[in-house]
Amino acid sequence: VPWVRLAPNDESRSGMALGLALHSVGRDVDVIHTRDHLTGIVTYVDLPCPVVIIGDGHINELYSLKRAFYAATKHSAGDGSVTLARQTFLRLLADAFLRFGSEELAVRAFALSVIGEVQEYQPVDFDYMFSEESELESLVFQLFGQLHEIGHCQPPERLDHSRAESIQGELLDEVWARVIKDLRSDGYHLSRERLADRHRELMEDGLMIPSGLHIVEEKSADLFATRTLLSVACRGKLPPRTLEGSQLLLDFGQLIYVRMNLILAQERIEAIARVAAQGHWGDDKAWTAYLLRQQGAIYRIREMSTDIAMMFDALSGASPEDRRGFLKWLDVLIQDWNSFRPCIEAMDSGLAAARAAAVEQTTPTEDLVAAASDALRTSANLTQQAQLFVGRGLRRLKGDRLALTALSRAIG
Ligand SMILES: [Zn+2]
Repeated sequence: VPWVRLAPNDESRSGMALGLALHSVGRDVDVIHTRDHLTGIVTYVDLPCPVVIIGDGHINELYSLKRAFYAATKHSAGDGSVTLARQTFLRLLADAFLRFGSEELAVRAFALSVIGEVQEYQPVDFDYMFSEESELESLVFQLFGQLHEIGHCQPPERLDHSRAESIQGELLDEVWARVIKDLRSDGYHLSRERLADRHRELMEDGLMIPSGLHIVEEKSADLFATRTLLSVACRGKLPPRTLEGSQLLLDFGQLIYVRMNLILAQERIEAIARVAAQGHWGDDKAWTAYLLRQQGAIYRIREMSTDIAMMFDALSGASPEDRRGFLKWLDVLIQDWNSFRPCIEAMDSGLAAARAAAVEQTTPTEDLVAAASDALRTSANLTQQAQLFVGRGLRRLKGDRLALTALSRAIG
């Protein structure tokens, strides 16, 4: 698989961001981009020179989710945006299942993404999507993940322990049992409000986010990425105290919020594929682990509003004792982010529908493949996507590969 090593430079904003990140992390880090469609984003911190690997799979996942997210902001929930979100999640789940070696689930998810949908699923057109982005957008969308991973290579004493420590602890057995009961009574629903409500109740009972979720590390890496991006976005200077200056900050805050939501979506896809790969559908422990991973990501989004408000306030040169500027920014950010609520609901519904369809096991796989083959026959575009999917699966998986062979035969 072709790959390149990314190098800092002064010609592009991405090169500048990489240079700044490596400088502030204070050690060499190799950042590698590979063309492998099934590689996400991985970091090997414990090497003499840490390595961050970003795969085409990560970029594809990110931009597919971005497309679904912005489609959902333009429609009211209940129309095509939920369908697109469901299809997107099914398609990304299909690849994630391949990555984790769950062949049959992968083929089922792929088949479900083409059966019975009015809208034909389109592959992501990167050239178009990149060309549509403003400079600020491409900074935040294309570089946040990479900078977050570099942030994991910071020396441990630089981790941000400010608030995370107070909420991190061990999970008690009785609370564990209650989480499971709650989950089950909800039919494992995935709405964010529901999860947040449950979490609040459980926190009142003394539940903390388990230390195994590395919240302090994740939060510190988020902060590192956000700080680096902000200083590249402002070109190292204070933004002018004008309407344009404030607008730049507000736009920046909004993009970070959207980007964090896409991270949550990626965490969910990864968690579903991980649970399924262990053959644990319906297993209490697996579902609890799944829920807690979501909590970790939701917590990171919430923390981001406070962190960004502090960064913006610091930019304006206010004294740390005077909290008025900080509170004002916090209020503005939260109000702005709340306007995404219908879109978030559409994404959550799309994911819940995709997960429910992927988990359902009553329809035999050969029936799903047969139904998919009808849809594929009518579309050259879908047929080509199916061929690429089968190709990826055959390269990745060893053994029988019965479901992939059946799908391959259905393409004809
Ligand atoms: Zn991380």
